[in-house]
Amino acid sequence: MISHVVWDWNGTLLNDNDAVLAAVNAVCVDFGRASLTWAEWQAVYARPMRVSYEEILERLLDDEEWARVDKLYHERYDALLHTCGLAGGVPAELRRWAESGRTQSLLSMWFHDRLVPTIEQFELTGYFSRIDGLAGDVGGGSKTDSLLRHLEAQDLDPADVVLIGDVVDDAVAAESAGTGCVLVTTGAMTRTALETTGVPVTSSIQEAVQLLDD
Ligand SMILES: [Mg+2]
Repeated sequence: MISHVVWDWNGTLLNDNDAVLAAVNAVCVDFGRASLTWAEWQAVYARPMRVSYEEILERLLDDEEWARVDKLYHERYDALLHTCGLAGGVPAELRRWAESGRTQSLLSMWFHDRLVPTIEQFELTGYFSRIDGLAGDVGGGSKTDSLLRHLEAQDLDPADVVLIGDVVDDAVAAESAGTGCVLVTTGAMTRTALETTGVPVTSSIQEAVQLLDD
C-alpha cells in the first residue's frame, strides 16, 4: 500500500519546458552552436547533464567550461521562471492525495535556495512534509544519493513510497532506493526513452496518481 509520494519538480509538477529550451539555447548561442528544437533536446537528454551538452557541442567539456554551461543555463532559466506554470492537475491532485490521509514530499535536483521560495510562490509548501533541493552550486547530477537522504530524513520505508518524475534518472534513483516509480511524459524525455526503464509511464499527473489508487 503506497502511503507516500515523492514528487519531482521540474518537468513533473512544474511545466517549464519552454524555459528549459530557451536556457539550453542560451548555452548554444554562447558556444557558437545552432539552436535546438525541443525534440532535439529530448533526444540528447541524459544524466549527468554534462554528457548532454558534450553531445550537442560535439566535444568534451572541462570543469571550467561545464561550470560556464551550468551558469549560463541557470541565468536564462531564472530570467524565464516567471513565465512557467504548474502542470495539468496541480494542485488538485496534491490536494486530493493529502485529503486521502496520505503524505507527500518534494525532491528536486534544482538549487534548494531557488526551489523553496518558488514552491512558496505557487502556494504549494503546505502540501509537503519535506522539500529538498540541491545543496551545491553546480547542478546536473544523479538523484540517487539525494533520494536516499530524503527518505532517511523522514524515516520512510521505501516499500511505502512511490517517486513520480519525468526522466530516466528518477526511475534509476527509485530503483536504487527501493521505492516504486511512475514516470510522466510531460517533461524532458520521450515516452520511448522512459519506457526503457520498465516502470509505468503515464501522460499526466492525474493518470500517475490514478495508478497508485488502482
Ligand atoms: Mg524533472
